[in-house]
Amino acid sequence: MENSNLSSVLLIYTGGTIGMIQNSETGALESFKFDKLIENVPELKRFNYRIDSYQFSSPIDSSDIEPTAWSKLVQVINDNYDSYDGFVVLHGTDTMAYTASALSFMLEDLHKPVVLTGSQLPIGMLRTDGKENLITSIEIAAARNDDGTPVVPEVCIFFENHLLRGNRTTKINAENFNAFRSYNYPPLATAGINIKYERDRIAKPDFTKPLKPHYACDTNVIVLTLFPGLQENIIRNILNTPGLRAVVLKTYGAGNAPQKPSFIKLLREAIERGIVIVNVSQCLAGTVQMRLYETGLRLLDAGVIGGYDSTVECLLTKLMFLLGQNKSSQEITELMKIPLAGEFTLE
Ligand code: ASP
Repeated sequence: MENSNLSSVLLIYTGGTIGMIQNSETGALESFKFDKLIENVPELKRFNYRIDSYQFSSPIDSSDIEPTAWSKLVQVINDNYDSYDGFVVLHGTDTMAYTASALSFMLEDLHKPVVLTGSQLPIGMLRTDGKENLITSIEIAAARNDDGTPVVPEVCIFFENHLLRGNRTTKINAENFNAFRSYNYPPLATAGINIKYERDRIAKPDFTKPLKPHYACDTNVIVLTLFPGLQENIIRNILNTPGLRAVVLKTYGAGNAPQKPSFIKLLREAIERGIVIVNVSQCLAGTVQMRLYETGLRLLDAGVIGGYDSTVECLLTKLMFLLGQNKSSQEITELMKIPLAGEFTLE
């Protein structure tokens, strides 16, 4: 008979390096089946948990991830929500921060752990970082407080000893095992001899509210990075793209941009046409403060919204999520100023 006190975790395998093997002819890394992946981690049998798995029909390199994959993840988590204490999503590292950010919005009122992890080296390789990441992620997904509530009831990324809030995380290294950073929010937990949870930093959801899954995303969005010499006719063409609904504008420093009236006019006209423009800094750490310099003030006057200390991945997926809910530009403008899932620091 099944022991109902046993912690239970659903392992969802989407693809990525963790489950890849080297093609002997081309030398390139290719995905292989989940059972092979599990064969490489016999340690999993030593957990006193119920661990089940779900595999995407064909595992993908995360560079091929589309919002349809996020909807699929939402569906799998929602379908299995009552049967498991937590979820571990095995995902390629390249776009993991986008998926984590998207899920943090699409899984509204989440109160169970959804831990994304992967690895820089395939799990079959001797020096793999995959085993450690997988084993610790499962432990985190299963961890419960004395009152039975999950310790980490939010979407997060576990990588190389650090548990980070998913929508605060960015991939910063293509080589090092320590590949992710959350510059503007400290780790939720650190794994050493013990897993040390930072309880005051972890989300405290209302456990009585049911999960509200959202499936739709609208991808009529773009990231526009400023640089000295960026031509206005190029900006004009981008802002006049048919169907465009929102722009993440990557500015300088504390949210500064050129003061040229012709540039500001382009932004103002786009906003008047209903395009939402959010200001995020090209700096990885720190926050947008549009009232600090004259250059920022001009943007504010034109109707540009400050993205605070959000990541680009977070702003982009939040916009896709809000647009997917058929919100008006005005509603989106207001919702971009409110943290929906702890995604920025409101000072
Ligand atoms: N290209 C791989 C992916 O993102 C890289 C990785 O998993 O680390 O799927």
